[in-house]
Amino acid sequence: MTFIDEAFIHVRAGRGGNGCMAFRHEKFVPRGGPSGGDGGDGGSVWLVGDAARNTLYHLRFTSLFAAERGRHGEGSNRTGRSAGDLAVPVPLGTQVYELESGSDTGSLRGEILADGERLLVAAGGSGGRGNARFATATNQAPRRADPGADGEERRLRLELKLLADVGVVGLPNAGKSTLISAVSAARPKIADYPFTTLVPQLGVVAPGPFAEPFVIADLPGLIAGAAQGAGLGFQFLRHVERCRMLVHLVDLSGSASDSSPEGSAAGDLAIVEGELRAFDPGLLSRPRLVVGSKLDAALPERREDLARAARELGLPYREISAATGAGVRELIADLALGLAASKAKDRAEAAG
Ligand code: GDP
Ligand code: MG
Repeated sequence: MTFIDEAFIHVRAGRGGNGCMAFRHEKFVPRGGPSGGDGGDGGSVWLVGDAARNTLYHLRFTSLFAAERGRHGEGSNRTGRSAGDLAVPVPLGTQVYELESGSDTGSLRGEILADGERLLVAAGGSGGRGNARFATATNQAPRRADPGADGEERRLRLELKLLADVGVVGLPNAGKSTLISAVSAARPKIADYPFTTLVPQLGVVAPGPFAEPFVIADLPGLIAGAAQGAGLGFQFLRHVERCRMLVHLVDLSGSASDSSPEGSAAGDLAIVEGELRAFDPGLLSRPRLVVGSKLDAALPERREDLARAARELGLPYREISAATGAGVRELIADLALGLAASKAKDRAEAAG
């Protein structure tokens, strides 16, 4: 199963500056030679791989990326200044399609796979030649200068296969779907619906202006898969492997605890922890938070029980209500910080 993030952007490179037509005017030189400088080159637009990005969400609100034009040439053989290039950051794995007409999905132009990898998507126009360039032995006063060339302009469709940065686990009815709906700023498309009911629910969380959006998903197949053993799709495993953090959701209201023999919050927690271990013991070494859900309908004894159980496991404990929003902003901030720290650690390790 493939979840797809998509963005449509318009890229426009800068036009080249015009060449200048000018002649030297000097005292005692009756007919000065041509002195018009060349125009500067227009800026190009590039897509640049950025390992710190998870989604295309940042492109959702800007549709036009335009580089500046080159300056015109001037007299006294002054060349116009070339414009700087414009770099648009995209996450690794972004595929770039060029759209020819409004409705098509476009033809593949390239793919960005590595941090810092660049793809030219609109080349800047060259600056026009000034008239000084056209002087010849037979034409010493050329009255010709070229205009700058147009920059390229394209409409692009960017596509990214999404994998979950944060996985949400918990018993059925713990409130996973409700939490994901409450925190999602965007819903990715499902590209191909497979023959399975284990479709994780994905959402893109936009924590705010200073933190990178991230992908949150519930992992229903993880629990069902642990119980059934085999039969999990490869795509699903990739979702689990990518998760840098886990949120373990436990119902504080007691209405969803029928899977726990003791019927206690600590019992609910233990069941799912056990299934995580059975599925992949490595998951237990990932940063994870124990989160009590449905705080608005919480039973005091379940809150105490769960807080104690989390403490015994050495895990941080939070409480939320997706219904009233209590604690949700704080949880998102915790996750954003944890993900940023995890990525920074990866980069430090990659750098040696
Ligand atoms: P999932 O099976 O883990 O995905 O659980 P759902 O999100 O489907 O929620 C199960 C039930 O709990 C639904 O009836 C929800 O309306 C309810 N629920 C979820 N979050 C809250 C909450 O914050 N407060 C209350 N009172 N009910 C909630
Ligand atoms: Mg659900």
